Amino acid sequence: MASNSALLPVTFHRFHRAIRKQLLAWFQKEAKSFPWRRLEPEEGGAVIVDPYVVLVSEVMLQQTQSARVAARLPEFLRQFPTVAALAAASKGDLLRAWQGLGYNRRALRLQLAARGILEHHSGVFPRSAQQLRALPGLGEYTVAAIQCFAFGMDVPVVDVNVQRVLSRLLFRCHGARQVMPPATVAAVAAAILPAGDSFRWHQALMDLGSTICTARKPRCSVCPARRNCASGPISQLALFHPDDVRPPEPTLCGIPRRFWRGKMVETLRHAKAGVPAHQLVAEAAKLLGYQKKMKLKEERDGLEILATLIQEGLAARTGVQEGELREGDLVMLPG
Ligand code: SF4
Repeated sequence: MASNSALLPVTFHRFHRAIRKQLLAWFQKEAKSFPWRRLEPEEGGAVIVDPYVVLVSEVMLQQTQSARVAARLPEFLRQFPTVAALAAASKGDLLRAWQGLGYNRRALRLQLAARGILEHHSGVFPRSAQQLRALPGLGEYTVAAIQCFAFGMDVPVVDVNVQRVLSRLLFRCHGARQVMPPATVAAVAAAILPAGDSFRWHQALMDLGSTICTARKPRCSVCPARRNCASGPISQLALFHPDDVRPPEPTLCGIPRRFWRGKMVETLRHAKAGVPAHQLVAEAAKLLGYQKKMKLKEERDGLEILATLIQEGLAARTGVQEGELREGDLVMLPG
């Protein structure tokens, strides 16, 4: 894989081979077993994983913990075993199957991609970045993940965890959130790839990022790359850094709005018929453990959250379709 070598940090030239060897050896012994991960190459060639499984699991993994994805993925694949089955599913069935994974919009994005593969490629996954990028609902990361994990291509797959781990390994980071500039990360990620072993390499980086080199508290003393890591000796990494304070999330009644969204969809999953909008807001409050009586303004904000869900296709009004959402309007999962 070509990379811009002028951007590589000095430490790269000294340590990247040793780091690569250490991480791959560690992964050989410590690899986690996941339903989306095959570790043995087929017939001595590259590791091959069904691209559909890669697509579904990667979209799930983007905002859900791997243990939860591991628990939910097999059932999801039983229900929607192929691209065609996913493309043909009703939104309601899809959102019901997404239960427990959170961030429901991803389910709709996934279906958009499946429909694109069916419509433009007769249900066969394209391999080129250009064709994959042209599919609706696929971001740059997912495109690279499909190329690498499904087709064994030597392309860098960089999410926030890989960005963090590579930064710490090869750049002297002075705070838990410090990372290399994006262009440097891209150059390093491409240059450090072991040719023909890109699948295991990325899985190793991801395991290291989720178990040892975690965002807030890296456990450098047990890290397989500690001898060569540029940041390992810097104790500040283990400390809470002022940069770690995240900007506050928008809330309703002191509870993040995304939780309200999740509980509203959750209520609709179990509803047999349309639920009045105001009742849906009240149900969500109950599920969130909010016990005070909501003020008028708060109820209006709750309706506004629900209106956004309808706009995004995660819920639907029965009967009236136009105009501002009113508290008595009946809402259900989309068909
Ligand atoms: S030595 Fe510490 S900072 Fe470096 S990769 Fe390992 S856990 Fe991360």
